[in-house]
Amino acid sequence: MTTTQVVNPATEQVVSTVELVGAAETDAAIERAQRAGADWRAVAPGDRARLLRRFAEAVDANLEQLAQLEVANAGHTIGNARWEAGNVRDVLHFAAGIPERLLGNQIPVAGGVDITFHEPLGVVGVIVPWNFPMPIAAWGFGPALAAGNTVVLKPAELTPLTAIRLGELALEAGVPEGVFQVLPGKGSVVGQRFVTHPAVRKVVFTGSTEVGKEIMAGCARQVKRVTLELGGKSANIVFADADLARAAATAPYGVFDNAGQDCCARSRILVQRSVFDRFLELLEPAVHGVRVGDPSDESTEMGPLISAAHRDRVASFVEPSTKVAFTGAQPDGPGFWYPPTVVLPDAPSDRVLTEEVFGPVVAVVPFEDEADALRIANDTEYGLSGSIWTNDVGRALRVSRGVEAGNLSVNSHSSVRYWTPFGGYKQSGLGRELGPDAALAFTETKNVFIAT
Ligand code: NAD
Repeated sequence: MTTTQVVNPATEQVVSTVELVGAAETDAAIERAQRAGADWRAVAPGDRARLLRRFAEAVDANLEQLAQLEVANAGHTIGNARWEAGNVRDVLHFAAGIPERLLGNQIPVAGGVDITFHEPLGVVGVIVPWNFPMPIAAWGFGPALAAGNTVVLKPAELTPLTAIRLGELALEAGVPEGVFQVLPGKGSVVGQRFVTHPAVRKVVFTGSTEVGKEIMAGCARQVKRVTLELGGKSANIVFADADLARAAATAPYGVFDNAGQDCCARSRILVQRSVFDRFLELLEPAVHGVRVGDPSDESTEMGPLISAAHRDRVASFVEPSTKVAFTGAQPDGPGFWYPPTVVLPDAPSDRVLTEEVFGPVVAVVPFEDEADALRIANDTEYGLSGSIWTNDVGRALRVSRGVEAGNLSVNSHSSVRYWTPFGGYKQSGLGRELGPDAALAFTETKNVFIAT
């Protein structure tokens, strides 16, 4: 049995050692999930709902423990980690409303009755990245279980601890053996087996666009269903008519939250040229004000990066020739720290404008007018998120409709609510999670005609 050491990114201390699942054990788990599926889909809707509610209550009762685990494993600030554990609880409560509301249609036809059913797919494989280990896992397993599927879940190699605990809590809550299994292991072993094993009928993958493309190509061989949540390069567009003080005060939190390791990070700030200099003047104190440090301290706003290798990758975006406008704070001592950094790129082709940094580096770029703002915002292969700051409601709506991205916010930086849909345009992904239709992504629509 191979093991991996889980490291606290704020202290570089080993937190625990986790056994990694291999190929044979993955196959055995998938077969267990397949066998458990027959009973799980037959559980009465009200009983399945009750089990999901109990699971949600178990998460709530262990919220602080889950949050502390994430602080230690992923370096998330304690405030964020509590929100994340609470999000798992809420996703499960929302999912608990699904079994009794998975309504089909009755469609008028001649000579009989036509009805549709939303049938479960079977075994669903969920592959999770390290940046938001708890919520991203729940967005997959919550609705999948609610719709009558069984789930095998692979957490990221670096961050398995909260997923393992969630697996235990499901069992404690009474979710039957084999219905929800957590398999810590390598992407190339466990994740790949989800793609190749014929009993896995859908893969939900959240991670890099590069790996997402491989997953999609692999799934194509079996016409396996796939939901992809991939990278982002989102724009925060600030018009001259906006509340500039608020736009500048909040911009750091739209990109530096979770140390920028957020697929929705607004990593390009586009500012109308007439207010560009004024915006930078207002942004500087806001960036200096971001409290970077010990993630277990209640007042901390930004923690470390996930690993030394990732910090090196983030640092590579700020080259000796890069124009750095200003940087924020960074603690001394151990930990994989990188300060909030604001850069002014020379050209649209600069890597910092075209590639996802996935760290606390933001590029600020001027634009001329509404059309120019849209052109720059859409000049990317990504399309996940974005913000629009303006006091003109017509412009807010025009630009919201014009930006090619799945999740936009006006005069704020919110992206995720468990009851609204979430997902990307273009190479940011395929399909949607969360929202009123979340469960439909885990079903096949079956049409039945009955002659009368
Ligand atoms: P990653 O692609 O390296 O890994 C993601 C997961 O896939 C991990 O569990 C990994 O073990 C697994 N994996 C790796 N190779 C695999 C393979 N060949 N087959 C099957 N599974 C494999 O991504 P990461 O570095 O963990 O996460 C960062 C990326 O995730 C960023 O690009 C970020 O934008 C993206 N992300 C997207 C969203 C979204 O909702 N759109 C949310 C969070 C993160």
